[in-house]
Amino acid sequence: MQTHIELKKARGKINQYARELEQKNQELKELLQRVEQLAMNDYLTGVYNRRSAVELIQKELARSQREGKSFSILMADIDDFKQVNDRYGHECGDYVLKRVAGLIREASRQYDVVARWGGEEFLLMLPRTQLEEAKIVAERIRALVARQVFSYQGFSFSVTLTIGVAGFLPGDDVDGLIRRADKFMYLGKKREKNQVVVEERK
Ligand code: GH3
Ligand code: MG
Ligand code: MG
Repeated sequence: MQTHIELKKARGKINQYARELEQKNQELKELLQRVEQLAMNDYLTGVYNRRSAVELIQKELARSQREGKSFSILMADIDDFKQVNDRYGHECGDYVLKRVAGLIREASRQYDVVARWGGEEFLLMLPRTQLEEAKIVAERIRALVARQVFSYQGFSFSVTLTIGVAGFLPGDDVDGLIRRADKFMYLGKKREKNQVVVEERK
C-alpha cells in the first residue's frame, strides 16, 4: 500500500517536471526566434538589415548564376532627408523612416527583399526580375511615397525618393551589383531628385 502511494506521488512529480520542461522549452524557442529576428532586422523599421540583405543577395546571385536567370537591385534614397530632421526633429525623421519602410514593403511583392541599407537608404532585391519589370516596381514605389502626406505633431509634409536600378549580369559579384545600383541612384540625385534611373543595357 505504502509503495503504491509513493509510486503515485513520484509519477505526479515526474509529470509536473515534464510539463515544466515543456514550458521552458517553448520559452527558449520563442527567445531564440526573437534573437534571430533582432539579428536579421533593422531595429527601427523592422525590414531586413544590411547584413541579412547581403546574405540574401548572395544566395540569389548563386541561384541566378546556376539557373542562368536574372534579378534586380533597387537602391532608394530619401531626398533631402536632413531637412526633415532639421525642420521637424529627429523623432519625426525616425517616424518618416518607419513609414517609408512600410510603404516600400507595401508596394513590393512578398518574396522581394526589402532592407535598410543605411541611414535613409533602402535596398530592394527583386528575385527573378528583369530590368524592365524592376523599373516598373521602382516607379510604383517612387509614386506611392511621393503622394503620401505625412502628419507628425501638427506638421504636414511629403518626402520623395530617388531610386537607382541595376540588374544582375553573369559574372557579377554582390558588391559590384550594389555599387551599380548606387551609382544610378546618385546619377538621379545629380540630375533631378524624385526619379528612377535604370542601368542601360547595350
Ligand atoms: P539627398 O537628397 O542628397 O539624399 O540629401 P539628404 O539630406 O537626404 O542626405 P544627407 O546624407 O545629407 O543626410 C542624411 C540624413 O539622414 C542625415 C542623418 O542625420 C539622417 N539620418 C540617418 N540615419 C537616421 C536615423 O536613424 N534617424 C533619423 N531621424 N535621421 C537619420
Ligand atoms: Mg543617403
Ligand atoms: Mg538622402
